[in-house]
Amino acid sequence: MDYDKIYIVGSIALDDIETPDTSGSRLLGGSATYGSIFASAFTPVSIIGIVGDDFPQQGYDVFKKYDINTNNLEIAKGSTFSWGGKYHQDFNFRDTLFTNLGVFETYHPTIEFNNQENAILFLANIHPLLQQHAINQCPSEYFIAADTMNLWIDNNKKELINVLKHVNLLFINEEEATSLTGTNTVDDAANKLLEIGPDSIVIKRGSYGATYISKDTTCSVGICEGLSVVDPTGAGDAFAGGFLGSLIKNGPDIDIAIRYGTATAGLAISSLGAQNLDISINDIEQLKNTIK
Ligand code: AMP
Repeated sequence: MDYDKIYIVGSIALDDIETPDTSGSRLLGGSATYGSIFASAFTPVSIIGIVGDDFPQQGYDVFKKYDINTNNLEIAKGSTFSWGGKYHQDFNFRDTLFTNLGVFETYHPTIEFNNQENAILFLANIHPLLQQHAINQCPSEYFIAADTMNLWIDNNKKELINVLKHVNLLFINEEEATSLTGTNTVDDAANKLLEIGPDSIVIKRGSYGATYISKDTTCSVGICEGLSVVDPTGAGDAFAGGFLGSLIKNGPDIDIAIRYGTATAGLAISSLGAQNLDISINDIEQLKNTIK
């Protein structure tokens, strides 16, 4: 199947980030923001989400810079979703300091999808009920990919499992996969997830790379060489944006897609927040060539 574009629903956020070396507050972030920026290097993107009236002009400027379609971006009275994260010396672990849903709390959008297009719908990390709401409105031919996080696995597992029944491809990290399925190994977790619904899974393994698993294929890659990590926030969303963007631009070659995903994740972690990213397909290609 050929796809024309990607719709991305998820958080659009103002993040407070602390790392061992740096920190910042009210930085542009959010799962849909990171996913959209990186997918836009490959394909037309339409972002689906909501911001409050405190959302800075700089944020709108970023969407404009990457030509991200904002027809499905709602602006409401109230606070933009905000999140605080603190990374430890080992960047593979972080603590969530706070999560304020703000205008997301009452967000039930009517989404403008185009029935004439073959598109990918990416359900970036957000409440599973909102992911389900987007699934319910999207044309049945769309390819659906999803991501999630421990908060929803711990608090909204039933709703999340319902979402997974409609999903073609799931992005998930190792810990999330074992905790969602109640298993001890990644292989067992992957088998259980494939039974629930997705045809394929990408397991993100932090500084160890990523593995794609479907019923008949497995494909693993390591990480980009020579990168210094500034802020790991958004790596997972950037990975998904690059991977799915590549499926649209280059077709269903998983080895290529997983390498583009790894390269886009690498670029995301090289900068604090999303507002200072300055990415191009050339930068992505260069980084892709450093992957072992
Ligand atoms: P990642 O590092 O790929 O997990 O993505 C980090 C982004 O996810 C940050 O920019 C946050 O604003 C956003 N985020 C954190 N917690 C949540 C949540 N509960 N729902 C949606 N987005 C979130």
